[in-house]
Amino acid sequence: MKLITWLDDLRNDDVDIAGGKGASLGEMWNAKLPVPPAFVVTSEAYRYFIKETKLQDEIERILSNIDVNNNEELNKASKEVRYAIENVKMPDDLKLSIIESYHKMCELNGDDETFVAVRSSATAEDLPDASFAGQQETFLNMKGNEQVLQAVQECFSSLFTPRAIFYREEKGFDHFEVALAAVVQKMVNADQAGVMFTVNPINQDYNQMVIEGAWGLGEGVVSGTVSPDTYIVAKDTQEVLSVNVARKDTMFIKDADGVTKEIKTPEDLIEKQVLSEEMIKKLENVGQTIENHYKRPMDIEWSIENGEIYMLQARPITTLTDKKDSKSSNEIEGKIILKGIGASPGVESGKVKIISEIEEIGRILDGDILVTKMTTPDMVPAMKKAAAIITDDGGLTCHAAIISRELGTPCVVGTKGATKNLKDEECVTVDGEKGIVYEGKVGKPEEKAPAQVVYAGAPVITATEIKANVSMPEVAERAAATGADGVGLLRAEHMILGTGVHPGKILKEQGEGALTEVFAEGIRKVADAFYPRPVTYRTLDAPTDEFVGLKGGEDEPHEHNPMMGWRGIRRGLDQSEILKCELKAIKKLREEGYRNINVMIPLVTNVDEIRKVKEIANEVGLKLRLDVEFGVMVETPAAALIIDDIIEEGIDFISLGTNDLTQYTIAIDRNNENVSKYYLENHPAVLKLIELVITSCKRAGVKTSICGQAGSRPQIVEKLVEWGITSISANIDAVETIRNVVARTEQKIILESIRKQK
Ligand code: PEP
Ligand code: MG
Repeated sequence: MKLITWLDDLRNDDVDIAGGKGASLGEMWNAKLPVPPAFVVTSEAYRYFIKETKLQDEIERILSNIDVNNNEELNKASKEVRYAIENVKMPDDLKLSIIESYHKMCELNGDDETFVAVRSSATAEDLPDASFAGQQETFLNMKGNEQVLQAVQECFSSLFTPRAIFYREEKGFDHFEVALAAVVQKMVNADQAGVMFTVNPINQDYNQMVIEGAWGLGEGVVSGTVSPDTYIVAKDTQEVLSVNVARKDTMFIKDADGVTKEIKTPEDLIEKQVLSEEMIKKLENVGQTIENHYKRPMDIEWSIENGEIYMLQARPITTLTDKKDSKSSNEIEGKIILKGIGASPGVESGKVKIISEIEEIGRILDGDILVTKMTTPDMVPAMKKAAAIITDDGGLTCHAAIISRELGTPCVVGTKGATKNLKDEECVTVDGEKGIVYEGKVGKPEEKAPAQVVYAGAPVITATEIKANVSMPEVAERAAATGADGVGLLRAEHMILGTGVHPGKILKEQGEGALTEVFAEGIRKVADAFYPRPVTYRTLDAPTDEFVGLKGGEDEPHEHNPMMGWRGIRRGLDQSEILKCELKAIKKLREEGYRNINVMIPLVTNVDEIRKVKEIANEVGLKLRLDVEFGVMVETPAAALIIDDIIEEGIDFISLGTNDLTQYTIAIDRNNENVSKYYLENHPAVLKLIELVITSCKRAGVKTSICGQAGSRPQIVEKLVEWGITSISANIDAVETIRNVVARTEQKIILESIRKQK
């Protein structure tokens, strides 16, 4: 039995012995990277500890029959288990081994009592779904036998936080399947510290390294409490491409007693650049060595003490998605012929096909660039073939933008003249991130980016659910593969638009059963792909200008401003024969056994609408709130301001539709490219309405979600989590990023509350 292992004997595949963190440190140590010396109290030691102290029975007793959905019960059980683990007498031989190793480290360091960091390192890899990342504890600045032993014991107990217990119970995992190792590492008393990504995680540029740094210990940067400086370096030339010096009001230090503290940053350092150009380059160098060693993009924690660089942790970046584009925006040099709004990232070249009339859509072949005034739903089949899409009109939430993001196709909208300025059949390159169109084929398409999808380590688990928006049932599998916790918005429009026939026409010519089946078929596809994860179906929100293009849509009224016209639930109630088919489809699916479908209604403005929908559902034999969870979209200031009345009427959840909420609050047409620069989802008035809705719902026990574009914007998402939103539904391509933003924000909240208690 090996109770202790030093880094010399550990490699990446020793997760079973040393946990993820310990194994990764061993790998770096043996690759001669600058890692502070460390030993690991092994997972075997943990199992031995549990066995010898006879704690397993007691823990099982405490955890038996608890209702993990009852917070109070869960917290109480966690406290009890942790108390038992932290206060039991450690077996003597284990105690001795740890003390001996600690003394050896002190000896190596040339002092009596070296400061160490004790970090938990879980062996969760055999449960691929069970993320323990960030859930366990780290104890900084420990010194002397007693503190080190206690910290190890507290690391052990961190395997039983409420969240970890909840997770294992939910997943049906055995609590004793996972073990915990503790890394005891010489403390680096950092002057500067931070993180480094060897691939730019924002634009996924493989030639850029991103370094974030702040003063003092790295805790502030890792937990997100300190805004760090950000440096971007070109990996091939080592040129520093951008320096963003942040205001660093606070910093973390070790005080004279070795206690980690957050203090006010000295005045002269607050806005001072943390890293010199020389240091940025040195770090880039080490980052490059690490990436070369692991042969994949890495996320690294670093610190600097007296000018010496140390690596504290390195793990593969898990947020790089399988993007369609093979070129990075920044590699492109070419003649710019058109600019617009970057609506869906990626870079593609191809032949321009200008589509003026829908009849011409057959001209689009695989790999063409579809150029049109604005895409319409009947263009979706062609959009799937196109390599990229360019439109004259539209903003970030227009039809072209939403569908392109869902398809993963680069798209530039709001160019105000693509159909006039581009020539049919000419070759162009589209940069959908920057919103630029270049003449000819530019960039380096043949250079495929290396290993594009990196799944490594355990996935991030968040208390806030992270869901995905789905418009086209065909992309359900792709959406489900993101690992999203469900679908927060399944738009009904595209199920109809996909048929190319107006629902009124289907109803009239083929009857109720046929229209019901159109809806059922689309919903079934998504519910299947996500089963048993929940799917929230939103009833038809049919704007007249989009439906006019369908066969049989010629009778759609011509409206001056369709965004404020006959759409949403007001139209749904006027055409209740269609709404009934939607509700019947849900009923049918329930009868087929699907238990993962919820319903919500769009563009609610008053309580009567909710009441009437319930009545109509009753008529078709679907009991909203009993058979399925029922919610409303909050997309109008009206709905936000009468949220208490809406709650009173009886709903299970709300979902914030910020695409509409923004346009109706600040009077900016979301589809008008002339005013798109004023379209700000983070306008204080919009944020105020959102906060009001979340807090009112929270008070009333009504679940809250967001499915507008703002839910894919990290800065807004941080606020939503702080206000206590239940779930966030992001674009498919943003799920991973948003999950990480949410995880970091949650950790920050927990950290702050712990600090307040102290
Ligand atoms: C919204 O308004 O934010 C929303 C999600 O609905 P849609 O974009 O379909 O109008
Ligand atoms: Mg809307």
